[in-house]
Amino acid sequence: MCNVEQAVEYIKKKNVKFIRFQFVDIHGTPKNIAFPVKEGNSGDEELYDVLSKGLYFDGSSIDGFVSIEGSDMMLKPDLSTLFVLPWRSAEKPAARIICDVCYPNGKPFEGDPRGCLKKMLDKFDEQLNGQYFVGPEPEFFVLKQDACGSWVPADNAGYFDLEPVDTGCDIRKKIVCALEDLGLHVEASHHEVAAGQHEVDFRFADAVKTADNVITFKTAIKTIASQNGLMATFMPKPFFGVNGSGMHCHQSIWLNNEPSFYDENAKYQLSGICMDYIGGILEHAKSIVAVTNPTVNSYKRMVPGYEAPANIAWANSNRSAIIRVPAPRGKGTRIEFRAPDPSCNPYLAFTVMLAAGLDGVKKKGGAPEPVEKNIFKMTEAQKKAEGIESVPASLKAALEELETNTILKDALGKHIYESFLEIKTAEWDSFRTAVTDWETANYLRL
Ligand code: GLU
Ligand code: MG
Ligand code: MG
Repeated sequence: MCNVEQAVEYIKKKNVKFIRFQFVDIHGTPKNIAFPVKEGNSGDEELYDVLSKGLYFDGSSIDGFVSIEGSDMMLKPDLSTLFVLPWRSAEKPAARIICDVCYPNGKPFEGDPRGCLKKMLDKFDEQLNGQYFVGPEPEFFVLKQDACGSWVPADNAGYFDLEPVDTGCDIRKKIVCALEDLGLHVEASHHEVAAGQHEVDFRFADAVKTADNVITFKTAIKTIASQNGLMATFMPKPFFGVNGSGMHCHQSIWLNNEPSFYDENAKYQLSGICMDYIGGILEHAKSIVAVTNPTVNSYKRMVPGYEAPANIAWANSNRSAIIRVPAPRGKGTRIEFRAPDPSCNPYLAFTVMLAAGLDGVKKKGGAPEPVEKNIFKMTEAQKKAEGIESVPASLKAALEELETNTILKDALGKHIYESFLEIKTAEWDSFRTAVTDWETANYLRL
């Protein structure tokens, strides 16, 4: 649905009682205010009003929102995102609408992550008549509680397994059905490498729709798991010694309504624009990860040996490089940036990836040669000789890179950039000063 009349008709037809006006904070955590739909003429008027004008709220306690201008805000609904929530009771159905956060006068709020991505895309469209498409591959673990109350993998299956080993197939089925009810076009689902780990892939779309979908995806999966006595986690590395969960992002840009990454006659059949885009991502990779891998735990995933990237290089098929170019050529030519993990705020992650890629396109610097060898097997000296750098080793190191990156600063805007650095530095400090199990295990007998 697109206009207010159609939205009202949908709400009436589905007998919706509550509409959740939804947005995200700086971490990408979904937040909402529920609007109760009332009967009668005055109820209809109120509904029409809130759908066309928006809903006022106090944003003072939302992470990353506090502004000196005050805390009065407005949620302007994007009616194309109106869907009944499949997991709420059929008796009094609830729906959700994803909103843009605005000032009471309708001006976009600089602290809204969705608004930040939209601004970046508008600039791209205005300057180059460009569009940005993203297809993410979020992975996650489904956990159960053992007799001692600890959360452990809910199954013992491995890559692509099926029942009876993969007892997770039932929960995956429920998840896929819920996602389809919410408008996601699910392309495939499978058991991942680690016990209890799964992947569900949905179709690529423009960046805002995809970021909305990532939020819907995580909410749906966590809710379905919880309703089944389980817990779904998008923590990047929940268990030491086994694969972590990534959210690889396949992406391409279109210029003047045409795909721009394919060139039949070029080396690797990748256009100059594609090579420049790869060059831009590689150049800014150390700062990008502060946003695409924004937790202390994120950096425990990006270590050699677990199919997660640890090195700043690109390749045609090598999984140890941070960028891989999947085999399809033609309209479907795209790059896969393998660093992101599902703890990121997708709106901000897509903003910085596009900003970095476009900086490369602007500079026309191309990309280095691909590295097809397994970088995980190279010594530090070999890597140095080939000019291959590692991703930052910690959130702190990544934040230090972001602190000096003017391209990403411009893309995020002053408000989000400063709030992000402040909040994440505090998060790092909280970790830095905590005494961990590892320390007690190794140092208690000193
Ligand atoms: N789980 C791996 C990661 O952390 C990715 C595995 C795959 O390529 O599907 O990125
Ligand atoms: Mg995977
Ligand atoms: Mg992948």
